[in-house]
Amino acid sequence: MINYLKFSLLIITSLFISSCQQEEDLSADVQQSGTLEQLSEKDFSCVYSFVDNNWGPNAFRNNFIINQAHTDFIYDQNRRIAGVFGVPTVPLSFIHDNSSGSTFNALSFSSGRIDFGEDIYRQALSKGLIAPVAILAHEIGHQLQYRYNLPTRQENTARAIELEADGYAGYYLKRPNGYNATWSKAGPAFAFAFDIGDFSTSSPGHHGTPRQRRSATRLGWYLGQYDLSPRNFDNYFFYYYNQYVLPGNLKIADQKRKGLDAEIDAFIESKLVELVKLSTGELSANDFINLD
Ligand SMILES: [Zn+2]
Repeated sequence: MINYLKFSLLIITSLFISSCQQEEDLSADVQQSGTLEQLSEKDFSCVYSFVDNNWGPNAFRNNFIINQAHTDFIYDQNRRIAGVFGVPTVPLSFIHDNSSGSTFNALSFSSGRIDFGEDIYRQALSKGLIAPVAILAHEIGHQLQYRYNLPTRQENTARAIELEADGYAGYYLKRPNGYNATWSKAGPAFAFAFDIGDFSTSSPGHHGTPRQRRSATRLGWYLGQYDLSPRNFDNYFFYYYNQYVLPGNLKIADQKRKGLDAEIDAFIESKLVELVKLSTGELSANDFINLD
């Protein structure tokens, strides 16, 4: 029964992942799933999920995670991420389940809020406090996409959407006015996210391959050296994405995009070799963690 429910949810998830930017009224499909009604979910028209899973029938939502210190920390980060991107703070809730139900997921809703599961939060903590922040920044990346109608790049799958969200997370962790992390802390946090973020059976690879995710995140990290609006980030990100994250498309890069700052362009160009090696796998997952 549980497997059947999961299967039907996965089908629904894959349906609206591919169509939700065009279609805003899929709530009827989703309400049939049953488990979501337990959470009175009425605004489920478009959502990007970290692992393509949802909550069990005994799940419940509140604004508390683990203890007051963790709660204060992550809500402070939530405000900070929004501040770095110049948007209002995104309402954030936590999902718990005291029965056997899994809360190993995080969801970003087009209605402008985020649900973060306790299980995924706790497991992320094994990579340090920074790891749940990396997941949250990825989900807020989806909020930027809803808000500004991004990404500008259209693909048949959610790959560009997910890789750009990874890029926003890399950007935030790097920003001096954001997390201001060192790579020795950020790298393992992202590696954790890539290990768990793509085990959907209904749409394998929809987050991009782990190699592409490493390249996209590192590109976002480098762009975090500069103060970019969400739209401007998109402009840079997809220019280099064509070149570096998807090396098969190198030829697209012959024409320079308008409006690229020469200093930023020169800096990112200087990272060409590394970004391409990440996306081709010549630099491994372990190499990724150990970058400077
Ligand atoms: Zn996502």
